[in-house]
Amino acid sequence: MKFAFLVHPLSDEAKALVQMNEDNTLVGHWGGDILEFCTFLHQTMAERRHAQTAGVKPQARVIDVFANLRSDTGAVTEGRLYEIPMGAVEILDDPARAIDYIEQAIQMAAEWGAGVVGLGSMTGVVGGQGTFVAERSPVPVTTGNSLTIHAALQNLYYACLEANVDPSKETVAVVGIPGSIAAAAAKLLAPIVGELLLVARRDSPKARKLSEELDAELLFDIPSALRRAKIVLSATSTGSCIDQALLQPGAVVIDVGVPADVQGSGAIRDDVLIISGGLSLVPDGFPRDSMFLGFHHGMVPSCLGETMNLALENRGECFSLGRDLSTEKVMQIGAIADRHGFRFDRLYSFGLALEPSQLAQYHKAVSRRKLLVPAAHGTHESDAQRLGNGRAALNGSPAPSPPASPTRIPTSEDIGDRAAKLHERYINPVLLAIGGKSGFVKTFIRAEGCHLWDHDENRYLDLVAGFGSVNLGHNHPRIVEELTQAMRLQAPGFAQSAVNPLAARLAEELIAVAPPSLEMVFFCNSGTESVEAALKLARLASGRSGLLHCQGSYHGKSLGALSVTGNPSYQKPFGPLLPDCTGIPYADLEALERELQTRKYACFIVEPIQGEGGMIVPPRDYLPEAQRLCRKYDTLLIVDEVQTGMGRTGTMFACDALGVEPDVMTLAKSLGGGLMPIGAMLVRRDLWLKAYGSIDRFALHTSTFGGGSLACTAALATLRVMRDEQVLQNCRARSEQLLGGLRRIFTEQSPYPLKEVRGQGMMIGVEFAPLKPPIVSNYKGADVTGMMKYVVPNLDKAVQSVSTLYVLQTLLQVHGVYAQVARSNPLVMRIQPPLTIDAEQVDSFLGAFRSCCDEAGDMSDIVEAIISKSTMGIMESKPAAPAATVSASSNGVH
Ligand code: PMP
Repeated sequence: MKFAFLVHPLSDEAKALVQMNEDNTLVGHWGGDILEFCTFLHQTMAERRHAQTAGVKPQARVIDVFANLRSDTGAVTEGRLYEIPMGAVEILDDPARAIDYIEQAIQMAAEWGAGVVGLGSMTGVVGGQGTFVAERSPVPVTTGNSLTIHAALQNLYYACLEANVDPSKETVAVVGIPGSIAAAAAKLLAPIVGELLLVARRDSPKARKLSEELDAELLFDIPSALRRAKIVLSATSTGSCIDQALLQPGAVVIDVGVPADVQGSGAIRDDVLIISGGLSLVPDGFPRDSMFLGFHHGMVPSCLGETMNLALENRGECFSLGRDLSTEKVMQIGAIADRHGFRFDRLYSFGLALEPSQLAQYHKAVSRRKLLVPAAHGTHESDAQRLGNGRAALNGSPAPSPPASPTRIPTSEDIGDRAAKLHERYINPVLLAIGGKSGFVKTFIRAEGCHLWDHDENRYLDLVAGFGSVNLGHNHPRIVEELTQAMRLQAPGFAQSAVNPLAARLAEELIAVAPPSLEMVFFCNSGTESVEAALKLARLASGRSGLLHCQGSYHGKSLGALSVTGNPSYQKPFGPLLPDCTGIPYADLEALERELQTRKYACFIVEPIQGEGGMIVPPRDYLPEAQRLCRKYDTLLIVDEVQTGMGRTGTMFACDALGVEPDVMTLAKSLGGGLMPIGAMLVRRDLWLKAYGSIDRFALHTSTFGGGSLACTAALATLRVMRDEQVLQNCRARSEQLLGGLRRIFTEQSPYPLKEVRGQGMMIGVEFAPLKPPIVSNYKGADVTGMMKYVVPNLDKAVQSVSTLYVLQTLLQVHGVYAQVARSNPLVMRIQPPLTIDAEQVDSFLGAFRSCCDEAGDMSDIVEAIISKSTMGIMESKPAAPAATVSASSNGVH
């Protein structure tokens, strides 16, 4: 069904939806794309002025069209925007003339074939809120107010979620009683809020009746309501009645007023949230080519949203009319809009999208006030309890105090959304930009063994295992038990310049399993710290400054470790790094000898397998030969087993299988049993004594937290589990199964986009074939996965890796398998599950991987076809098209 929507030229109420400077120039509007919108407004105003001066009698007219609007259900509609030639004030001053124009516009819409007409803004106010117009109209009309109410309540819900405010415990004021929007909103809010205040401009029987019916206090004085209410929903037609200065700290205001109810053109308080209420985000399938307000950013006022929904439903009905709106209809249109894919979670404040930084400011301002004025008798909820509450909600029992809205209860999705939003706001916005929308960045809230669970109780097989930190599986019961017991025993967590029995025992046990050359231990908290310790010791013990490392290596990101991390994209932004560092190709013994001959190097630091570099396994003689050469030229050999250690490659340390006895070995990751951070540098005794064995040196390199009791407890438990539970045997058996299966897929399916399968133990890489090089340069703008532009640096390589990303996403979203790419080489998928993975889990992964590769094979063809078209100029004009094409042809997995 087609629809029409009536509007009038820019006026005060339209200005309330955009942000103006003091001098009435436009600052921004929904989405911030000012120029296009300004052009649109200027055109309509200029045409009108031109017509007036030319003496042409003003007429209603079509000013914009919405074509090909396809909703999530597949329903399609189209619409026209009709403008009547009167501004808001003129309409209210001369309603009879306005109604003539409204009827003229409706007549035009009827002739065009519209099945429903929405009365936008003031056209829905005159004539008894549409009732008079409806009686005489040949086409059903609606004010759209029901969806506006639904949207306002949804906005309230999402704003409360952002603000961490629980309406069921708060005083909520509804301003604008007994107006149609305010009255229906109050009815829906009454059962679920802590206390309800109704605020009317003057006393009236209608307002009194409502207050009795809802058992809510009726006030005629806005300031006193603002002082009492934490949440305010305001829907008046007078505007500017809410003074920001009077709001409670932390208050949330949903402003549905037309014109806007909150005074001022922007936020003057950073400790309140003022939300433009009643906006809808249209379904993804709506082309954004209309210029109406923020439509090209997907935003519409919900009165237009309601009209669109009625048309999509083929419901030519006078859905919302008059002063008494039914709450059932609000819920009904809300459900319809949800089904068609309209959303209400994108919040706007004074016509501009609410920025993460504004929310951060808000929380900061509110927290600062709380610090200054502590709550008299606050209840304390621990973080663990909070997680528990979240879990309770996931398991079906309601969270104890859900922020609720009448048309919606919080779902587990919201819990995940909130965590993602906080991450975006406070931790790393880019991570969410890369993978948030595509569902690639998950919020995991529970883990056990080889599985992770997201906030929606979806289970994922974990092939990342904390990049090698969870070798024994998540929350291994024996490690959990030991840690719990240790906490009960009240051992000192940290005691400086003293002996810690747990650290001492761990040192003894580590040395017992380490290669024979290693006799002493330094404890720290991470891999990069263990590398720092090793490099410093090497310089001190050797008296040389040079540090030799491999290209493509990864040893950490603190400045010293970064200096020997052979990846320029990590290093360059931070230069100058340590002097005297040289990188040589990995597994190149000639290059190694050439450099060692200079005898300027304190050490050669090397990984037995380059993990971050792309799971690169060197020839078997590489490490033993490197050791021989290091000895020959008096250079210390540091073997970095941060990732390969603790059983990852099938032996306790990769050195064991090769008979290598390094001078220094670094450990971290799984040493902490997947639960505690701990790193260690193991070293020959004579070297330690040379470096630190004197009264002026013994404390030259220390770490406050290194060797803490809980970390040592976890590490001791880890060693015990590895001994008792045949972890290494399982690792080797499952590795054979996994590598065998992958190699079969590789050899049997030649059209699949695989280049190589390699690895050792549970450190496995699958390298995908890149897209053909001439195609890549044309591809960059196409962004099939939506992730490409963010995968920097190395865009060319990222672009080539479409198949890898596609497989990863399909594994995650269709098969529940969580895997990652090697950061330094996005063509390589890392497969490094916990070493405790069982045969069935390996088989289920192999099945999933096989089917993903099938699809990825097809996808490469599709991508290449699209790209070859782009050479003919198609892509340049329509950059969005390929994303839709590809996702549609791949079962919507995108
Ligand atoms: N060395 C190697 C071989 C690593 O794989 C890593 C981490 N991926 C590090 C050092 C750095 O460890 P961390 O992230 O704990 O600092």
